[in-house]
Amino acid sequence: MSLSTDFDLKERVRAAVDIVDVVGATTELRPQGRNFVARCPWHNDRRPSMTVNQERQTWKCWPCDIGGDVFSFVMRRDGVDFPTAIRSLAEQAGIAVPDLTGGRRTEPGSPDDRPTLFSAMELITKAYFDQLESGTSDDARLAREYLAERGISEESRRRYQIGFAPDSWDFAVNLLKEKGFSGEVAHAAGIASAKRSGDGFVDMFRGRLMFPILDLQRRPVALGGRIIPEIAKRLGERAGGKYINGRETILFRKSHQLYGLDQAREAIRKGGEAIVMEGYTDVVMTRQEGIEPVVAVLGTALGEQHVKILKRLAQRVVLVLDGDEAGQNRADEVLELFVHADVDLRVLTLPEGQDPADYVAQHGRESLERLANDAPDALDHKLARLTEGVNLLEDTHAVTQAVDTMLKIVAQAPDGLKTDQLLMRMASRFNFKPERLELRLKSLREESQRRERFRSNASANAKRSTSGTTTSSRKPTPTSHHISSNRSDDPNAALQQSADFEEAFDELLPETSRFVNPRQDVSLRQQERLRSLASLERDLFETLIESPELAMTAVEVIDPEWFETNTAKMLLSAYQDLEFDGHPLDIDSLLLLVENEQLKNQLVTLQERIQNRSTALPQTIQQRYNAVINRFRELAFSHEQTKKIEQLASELLPEDEEVAILEAMIAEARSKHGIQPPTDK
Ligand code: ATP
Ligand code: MN
Repeated sequence: MSLSTDFDLKERVRAAVDIVDVVGATTELRPQGRNFVARCPWHNDRRPSMTVNQERQTWKCWPCDIGGDVFSFVMRRDGVDFPTAIRSLAEQAGIAVPDLTGGRRTEPGSPDDRPTLFSAMELITKAYFDQLESGTSDDARLAREYLAERGISEESRRRYQIGFAPDSWDFAVNLLKEKGFSGEVAHAAGIASAKRSGDGFVDMFRGRLMFPILDLQRRPVALGGRIIPEIAKRLGERAGGKYINGRETILFRKSHQLYGLDQAREAIRKGGEAIVMEGYTDVVMTRQEGIEPVVAVLGTALGEQHVKILKRLAQRVVLVLDGDEAGQNRADEVLELFVHADVDLRVLTLPEGQDPADYVAQHGRESLERLANDAPDALDHKLARLTEGVNLLEDTHAVTQAVDTMLKIVAQAPDGLKTDQLLMRMASRFNFKPERLELRLKSLREESQRRERFRSNASANAKRSTSGTTTSSRKPTPTSHHISSNRSDDPNAALQQSADFEEAFDELLPETSRFVNPRQDVSLRQQERLRSLASLERDLFETLIESPELAMTAVEVIDPEWFETNTAKMLLSAYQDLEFDGHPLDIDSLLLLVENEQLKNQLVTLQERIQNRSTALPQTIQQRYNAVINRFRELAFSHEQTKKIEQLASELLPEDEEVAILEAMIAEARSKHGIQPPTDK
């Protein structure tokens, strides 16, 4: 998928919709001057503090410091990623969207065609639902009895569209065939498996209670099936495990999707909190008791992507772990997540042997809500586990080990406020001097950076030796695993490819960060929050937005190393990408190119600042630009000098080398200040 087709598509979609209509459908707009104002849906806004600029097609809420264009508005409103937002706007506008995640053309009816799979999933989900709702077989009756036994109400059954898959090898496959879907489609949708012997496909779910997993547009993307004890008894060996979770397909990635999010989204947004559990029934039963912001992971641990999605909706995530061995062990992985993703992540471990469904049945809604409310954050949780049964005053060995374990996890996080807080809390908990912890953290960091460097060198060498003459590709390089599964007869190959594309989409600014040092890019992704521009950076980009012609010069002149913030580096590389692809270097194009919500906000903020200037600036744009560039150069120069001096101080060099370096520095400083070198005596 080339950047420019992508850009064209964005341009067409943006031209086809009016941000005033889109925002106006969510919150009431009132005209004010040339703009519109509205009460911001993301904070308790008594007076309208959100502005919508129709001419620019941008929006901004200053108190929240959020803003952007129509795409980022939809991303935030629906809690979806960029491809989903553009797809939904395009659908509304009647613009055909090439398969953004697949990148290849797909034929309707083929197993790699998303719309085809969606239709197949819809058909089957509905059929399973009808079986439970009105099926007349004995098994359907057993399924209904089981549901009643578990206390799942009719309302819950309908809310979550719970169904029943008859005990048959070909119920789903045949139904799909009747409607013109091939067995390959049934397989690609995750409803059927390939027959062990011979050709053809058989149903994956037989004699099971069915839980559809819906995406945010309420389209079924996968199914999970639970065994029904009465039916399982009859099936014996053939019954299979308690749950069969839908496997990954081009519609479904379990690391990205959460059960029940479609139902819980509004409540999560309103309350600012998401409660994540482990099972379908946990969600259904707690929701039935009136706890609304509940979702479940799908046979996998809560991961970075899940958190990313939830963070768009809420500030606080409470992970509720079953009070069993497995739940306990998962708690340990959570701290890593907590450190990486900047989110208030709480961990609630339920009493032994209980899951949320049991707990809420026994103790009621208030009690579970109270537990969730009081849940410790992931750090305290981990601390408590590490020091369980340890005498902090006497068992120094155990304490040192606990501290080191924690610091190793903290060391992976970017330096910042969060790290400081973690250190302070650990210090007070263990009675250590904070400086001691800092020192240890520093050396752990250096160690891991060394390892990182080693790894990336090694992998760069490996790539060089296998890829021959290929130049840098913007697509993710397939790993050997992907290559080996890339055989044409392997149905997973297509899935894997499309997963790679999606992965690329998930990154912040996937296409534009080529000037950002890759490691900074990684830490950026972990940090998630983009810093605001430093003031000199802001001055620079204001002049570039005011004058696209200056921007043309600037992309050639500016050294990304001058910048302090990744935000500035990313903006610069966005400019460079625009230039590379022959687009105008203006703010409209920038907004189209950039997909990251926060970066868009930075752009709109700059734009608004320019427009809201109350007094004209004394200098011309060109003068301001020159002044900024000179200042950057000066800073870079003195930075360079400082580095050299530090190097001199830290290294033992032979005297003549030291003298040579110093002389070179003096000469540079002289020429910079226009001072003639002294003539030889
Ligand atoms: P139930 O109350 O119906 O027994 P549960 O929701 O309590 O189910 P758990 O045993 O706590 O289920 O498991 C939590 C989740 O883990 C399930 O929802 C399912 O996604 C997954 N899971 C459990 N058992 C299996 C299994 N045998 N195979 C695959 N996934 C499973
Ligand atoms: Mn459970």
